[in-house]
Amino acid sequence: SGSSSGLQGAAGMVRKKLGNFVGFANLPDQVHRRSVRRGFQFTAMVVGESGLGKSTLINTLFENKLFDLEQRSRNAAPPPGTERGRTVGIESLSSDIEENGVKLRLTVVDTPGYGDFINNDDSWKPIVDNIEARFDAYLEQENRVNRAKLIDNRIHACIYFIQPTGHSLKPLDIEFMRRLHTKVNLIPVIAKADTLTDDEVTAFKRRILNDIHHHQIQIFQPPVYENEDEETIAENEEILSKVPFAIVGSDTVVSTADGRHVRGRAYPWGTIEVDNEGHCDFVKLRQMLIHTHMEELREHTNDVLYEGYRSEKLIAMGVNQDSSVFKEINPAAKQAEERKLHEAKLSKMEAEMKMVFQQKVQEKESKLKISEEELYARHKEMKDALDKQRMELEDKKRRIESGRPPTPDKSGTVSSVD
Ligand code: GDP
Repeated sequence: SGSSSGLQGAAGMVRKKLGNFVGFANLPDQVHRRSVRRGFQFTAMVVGESGLGKSTLINTLFENKLFDLEQRSRNAAPPPGTERGRTVGIESLSSDIEENGVKLRLTVVDTPGYGDFINNDDSWKPIVDNIEARFDAYLEQENRVNRAKLIDNRIHACIYFIQPTGHSLKPLDIEFMRRLHTKVNLIPVIAKADTLTDDEVTAFKRRILNDIHHHQIQIFQPPVYENEDEETIAENEEILSKVPFAIVGSDTVVSTADGRHVRGRAYPWGTIEVDNEGHCDFVKLRQMLIHTHMEELREHTNDVLYEGYRSEKLIAMGVNQDSSVFKEINPAAKQAEERKLHEAKLSKMEAEMKMVFQQKVQEKESKLKISEEELYARHKEMKDALDKQRMELEDKKRRIESGRPPTPDKSGTVSSVD
């Protein structure tokens, strides 16, 4: 494919058309056929303090046309709790996209008000509640008799905006991520990276990763499949190496010194291009979200995060995981349980085998020791006997040499004749 795309230069060089953003138009090649046929839902959440560029990023990510910010005011009656200033609000924008036969309901959930208060101790709470409420809604559908068409409003990715301080994570950042990492795929990003120099970004990234590691926070880690082709592996590694992504957002087009028109931010000293990988990691973030890892984000949300939430909830509700009811409604849990049983059996067998082996070794060792002692005793006996024999022979030899008659034997007769 692509041979007639006209992107091939005269010298056979592949050139990317400028302004040709990698967006949903590319999805048909990327997602599983089943999802394509059925249509699917992807929901991302953006979290971060006001003014860090969340709305701008959403617009940049979806090429403006999808998320006109005015849509927000056009939204029907706001859900409870969206009033700004008193609590963290949750606002969501959805858009049905159909391109080349792919139906996608894309939703971006914004969380205005997060971290904006004098006391931000509980800023994470409404967000956790929101994520769990979405899990609950899904669980409720799963437990219905008719599960023909599940509506999946679960959050598949949470883009967490880190203020470009250049120092390290703030206590609020750490608290948020610690509370959320078992519930949602965390994708940390450095906001407004154009306010830092390249060196500052590099050092800041290192410190952020150290903090994340130190606090044992699990951020989204794309799985590495061994049977992947080299190109994909390299692509994944490239994406991974950029985490946390240094982001520059802009929904305006500016002109560059060489006369190109690009999305970016103009400064007296030059232009930062949003879609230029040499300038920031925006392209990598977008690539991961809607190009290379959308399926993985959805899978991990379903198989690990949601699954964990569900079994915790069922335990809390007093549902015994051993009960057949639970297994019936939850084949994954049944499988996991069977695997656990099997593993327990294996490790018990291993322990038994180890014990038997140790016993055998011990027996063998003591047997060896006994026979060693016996051998030694026998050896000594033989040696003594030989020594005695040799002494007797030597004695006899000496007598013969000195001409003296050999010692008479008991009968008194002489054994030698002159
Ligand atoms: P939100 O409150 O997090 O949604 O932030 P907004 O998207 O409303 O952005 C707040 C301000 O920061 C606006 O004036 C944006 O133009 C500006 N802004 C957004 N992204 C960037 C960025 O990457 N770099 C810089 N320097 N400014 C940005």
